[in-house]
Amino acid sequence: MTKLNPFEVVQKQLDKCAKIIKLDSNVHEILRVPMRELHVSLPIRMDDGSIKVFQGFRVQYNDARGPTKGGIRFHPDETIDTVRALAAWMTWKCALLDLPLGGAKGGVICNPKQMSQGELERLSRAYINQVGQFIGPDKDIPAPDVYTNPQVMAWMMDEYSKIAGKNRFGVVTGKPLGVGGSAGRGDATARGGLHTVREAAKVCGIDLKKATIAVQGYGNAGYYAAYLAKTLFGSKIVAVSDTKGGIFSKGGLDPEAVREHKAKTGSVINFPNTKPISNEKLLELEVDILIPAALENVITGKNAPNIKAKIVAELANGPTTPEADDILYKNGVHVIPDFLCNAGGVTVSYFEMVQNFYMYYWSEKEVHERLKNKITAAYSSVLKASKEYNVNMRQAAYIVAVKRVAEAMKIRGWI
Ligand code: GLU
Repeated sequence: MTKLNPFEVVQKQLDKCAKIIKLDSNVHEILRVPMRELHVSLPIRMDDGSIKVFQGFRVQYNDARGPTKGGIRFHPDETIDTVRALAAWMTWKCALLDLPLGGAKGGVICNPKQMSQGELERLSRAYINQVGQFIGPDKDIPAPDVYTNPQVMAWMMDEYSKIAGKNRFGVVTGKPLGVGGSAGRGDATARGGLHTVREAAKVCGIDLKKATIAVQGYGNAGYYAAYLAKTLFGSKIVAVSDTKGGIFSKGGLDPEAVREHKAKTGSVINFPNTKPISNEKLLELEVDILIPAALENVITGKNAPNIKAKIVAELANGPTTPEADDILYKNGVHVIPDFLCNAGGVTVSYFEMVQNFYMYYWSEKEVHERLKNKITAAYSSVLKASKEYNVNMRQAAYIVAVKRVAEAMKIRGWI
């Protein structure tokens, strides 16, 4: 089977939406491609003295609604088309949450697991040196994503500030608290996702206190999703996994203890008193809620018929292929689409931007409250559109988001 190109998936999803809402063909054409993209080479001095050249990208998809926003991924399998796809999803995500922002994404082809802290710092700073002209606090604002973290953001902010000759905290979000980060950003993606799960559970008649959950991926989003689902809802986390494999426990896992085990051993596997389970089998478990929190294209036409969960909460970007989408919909699975489910991260990133501009910082309680209101409202608008147009939740999310972007383009006189 040829590998699915995520950018083609994005275009297909948009085409479907355009048909349903009879989107102006000029708007449609503009929205099928990124507005601007930059490709850079990053020569890095490695610890052994050699120079290695890494390839990086920044794609600004559409800025009709405001400055572009989106994370930077460090990943060995990164391609320009994954970055394009992710930049498009950021555009829909920001519009759906009604944030005054457009969408962007960045990526560097590298394997951070095989790099030292020094090498990662030099790579992060080199990236900013190369894309610095292209970004800015009121232009395009990066953030963490797969294999980048608050420390990487701090280096990037510092490098940008050095170039600017003054502190420019607002150039990236997801920073550590001591240098302009926002309270509540760390677990924001998972926390936001769980607000949508809570709403979906009401729709599906699931009692979250008794619910069983499987989580694929145990990075920032996956770990916090497991931890918060257990502590906030009292749900039982029966399985989690990472790239090396998964673990299953019928009686339920302690997410915090699993995190400590992973920190010590490098993986969740071999956690005491659990059974090993493959990533593939984890997806097909008989659970109430399945949370894919890793990478794209894991639920496909092949395994979608075997998914037994009642709710699929997409904390990852792009975990479900269009073919799988149709199967899940037909089988009555309630899918909370990625750019709704994982929008908590960028929502709190937006709050971080506001606080950076303001030079005044909110309490964690205020951040939590605002996040809850924003994402719950977005869920309701998607549910409403799905009923109105009789379409699945993903198409409904596209309808709400694309209409908003198209409206901004019209008002601005672009078409
Ligand atoms: N990388 C996250 C996402 O995919 C957050 C982006 C941001 O905060 O700008 O939504």
